[in-house]
Amino acid sequence: MTDQHALHTDVAIIGAGPVGMALALSLEGSGRRVLLLDARPPKAWANDPRALALAHGSRQLLERLQAWDAGAATAIDEIHVSQRGGFGRTLLTAADYGAPALGYVMRYKDLAAALAARIAPAQLRCECAVDAIEITPEQATLTLAGTTQRVTAGLVVHAEGTPASDPDVRVRDYRQHAIIAQVKPAAPHKHRAWERFTPDGPLALLPLGDDYSVVFTVPSEKVSALLELDDDDFLATLREQFGRRVDFVSCGARSSFPLALRVRSPIIQQRQVWIGNSAQTLHPVSGQGFNLGLRDAAELATALLDHAAADCGAALAAYARGRQTDRRFGMGFTDSIVRVFSNDLAPLRCARGIGLLALDLAPPLRHFVAKRMIWGARAWP
Ligand SMILES: Cc1cc2nc3c(=O)[nH]c(=O)nc-3n(C[C@H](O)[C@H](O)[C@H](O)COP(=O)(O)OP(=O)(O)OC[C@H]3O[C@@H](n4cnc5c(N)ncnc54)[C@H](O)[C@@H]3O)c2cc1C
Repeated sequence: MTDQHALHTDVAIIGAGPVGMALALSLEGSGRRVLLLDARPPKAWANDPRALALAHGSRQLLERLQAWDAGAATAIDEIHVSQRGGFGRTLLTAADYGAPALGYVMRYKDLAAALAARIAPAQLRCECAVDAIEITPEQATLTLAGTTQRVTAGLVVHAEGTPASDPDVRVRDYRQHAIIAQVKPAAPHKHRAWERFTPDGPLALLPLGDDYSVVFTVPSEKVSALLELDDDDFLATLREQFGRRVDFVSCGARSSFPLALRVRSPIIQQRQVWIGNSAQTLHPVSGQGFNLGLRDAAELATALLDHAAADCGAALAAYARGRQTDRRFGMGFTDSIVRVFSNDLAPLRCARGIGLLALDLAPPLRHFVAKRMIWGARAWP
């Protein structure tokens, strides 16, 4: 019997964040009907305060989707890595890797706007929170909150962002928050990013326009006090972390995000697949989260296009197999950095110094890390 209230599509994507939209664009021209469903009102992303570091490989993927807004991107030519209160530092430079930049910094809202501008209006339904999914061997049926309308689909893609508690999601709570803000440097940044490991947690300065975007990781119990400081005192706190290396003249609004690692396993089930933050939500320390999610979207599109629509199970299995290495490296690398660098134990401080020194003195080791940050899985031998 036909369901009068059902709208049918081949691929239903839950979540029109940057990863969901990138997948919809990657399937453009494939002959498959794609519908994006988002819980929030249109353009809700315009209020997101985050700035994201994008790998050079992500730029190439976004260019392929005609969603690269060059005017909104600030190139990172160098990354200076050091630790507070300990020896060892290293400098990564783009010139060493044959890439025009190590990466780029872009506001989440500019990234989302560039992707959204390419989405056909008929493909996107806003204020449509999916609150239940029923799977049968033939199809998936999605129930939308606040309406009797249902959506039936051959495949459901979960791109709804950070997952809530679920038995399939492993959580490691870092008991840290990221405080983010835009600060004006006293001298031009010359496209250099800074990653400074402090006893509280990692602190990053990312060049954004003429300013820096700050991602300051602190233990959760310190977050309210730092948010309540006036601008001068907050800048003094940043100066304290950096010594004389960088100075600042003013600071914009501050906001905070709780930090945890959330990993879903398995990432595929019958007629369902999880990508982006819904599959893995990472600590922002090494700027891997969106980059990994974008590669999820690109590889899922490839797996779907390599198989007939009726072969959904085989396409999902190929996708899950293909994503193992890249996901494992992205999650393992980020998690290790947080755990090794967010403390002030003397033996670990010394080991970190030796590690940074080794990176500085051994170009092959430095290149190994840098190439994986620029290219992700494509850099694996
Ligand atoms: C402070 C901070 C700094 C970061 N810095 C970086 C960085 O430098 N580089 C980097 O690569 N990554 C970074 N990240 C990670 C990056 O922000 C995420 O990986 C990325 O936003 C994930 O995109 P997404 O589309 O998967 O999810 P989201 O951006 O969370 O989008 C999910 C969408 O799903 C919708 N939705 C949710 N539930 C439902 C539902 N039930 N029904 C319908 N729609 C729903 C939401 O409204 C939203 O639009 C950072 C994260 C933080 C917190």
